[in-house]
Amino acid sequence: MNNTFKTIALAVLLTSTVTACAYTTDPNQNNNQDHTMDETNTNTASDSEDSVQSNNNNDEGAENDMNDAEAIVWPEVNLQKKDEGEAVVQLQKTLITLGYVVSEDGIYDDATTRAITDIQLQLDNVLAVGVYNAETRKALKNMDIKALETKIKPGKELSNERSEPVSGSDATETAMITNPYDQLALVNKANALPKDYVPIDLVVPDVRFPFEEDYPKKQLRKVAADALEALFAEADQAGITLFAQSGYRAYSTQVFLFNRYAEKHGVEEANKFSARPGESEHQTGLTMDVTSESVDFRLVTDFGETPEGQWIKEHAADFGFIIRYPEGKEDITLYQYEPWHLRYVGEKTAQEIMNNALTLEEYFNEK
Ligand SMILES: [Zn+2]
Repeated sequence: MNNTFKTIALAVLLTSTVTACAYTTDPNQNNNQDHTMDETNTNTASDSEDSVQSNNNNDEGAENDMNDAEAIVWPEVNLQKKDEGEAVVQLQKTLITLGYVVSEDGIYDDATTRAITDIQLQLDNVLAVGVYNAETRKALKNMDIKALETKIKPGKELSNERSEPVSGSDATETAMITNPYDQLALVNKANALPKDYVPIDLVVPDVRFPFEEDYPKKQLRKVAADALEALFAEADQAGITLFAQSGYRAYSTQVFLFNRYAEKHGVEEANKFSARPGESEHQTGLTMDVTSESVDFRLVTDFGETPEGQWIKEHAADFGFIIRYPEGKEDITLYQYEPWHLRYVGEKTAQEIMNNALTLEEYFNEK
């Protein structure tokens, strides 16, 4: 870790106009912004709570605490990255009152995701996923302003700790993902995870594996493990027997694997089917490769044609998973078709992606 990086990261954190956009490449992705801002400004102008402003929330004092208490309103709906509207404005106002640097523009952007993730990391028994969900809302609503101010320190968990990207050293520009906890983090050949990122909530899902050993690759983050268990249970009901083959993979394991593939096939070829270290979704703990006995538990494209592969394609989104590298999208994902590679993104996003035959890249660049 060098000081320049710390300084840059701190500057990003403290500058409201800069979003933590390490994992978006399209600066126009929020081009509905103007319309939305008009709409939300109109809406909030008639809102009685609008008179409570929190610009001076750095001041101390009883009177200000009163204002703060009134300004703390937790929206009753679930919100996540890319959502827009009045509820997002309300959430952002509350975040600002708590001391977070986010814009009040009604767009659940990277900065908002980051603030929610930072809060989740400081709450007990709440998963850090970057989505403003029922679990988070419940925990926050149980706390009054004093408890919130005591417990939540803005930027405490997701602040200026960044490590340098180690891959993409040659022709490719690789951005560093600054919020790897985000369940919607885009990890690909242009956006790498920090090499020291290890998910904090890894568990072994209670599903079928084609081996007995307790390999680390059995693990997933809790949010994805719960979803995978539900997916497997539903498959069982339908007479579909799935096997989980490979989930979480540590950075160091990916170094080993990629080097081995590169030695055998050359770096360029290896990069088409294996990820360079830091660029593997498996490091997020949100990804599981699944397979079936009918393809001898291998990870092969034929799996997509089996009843198990077909069932997965049909039902994965119901449980928040997407087929991350679909057929025909190789030029976008830069990976070959992988019908076995499931990535957890949550049900809302998964439905949109699978129903519209999108990739995660397209999901973030369109709309
Ligand atoms: Zn995979």
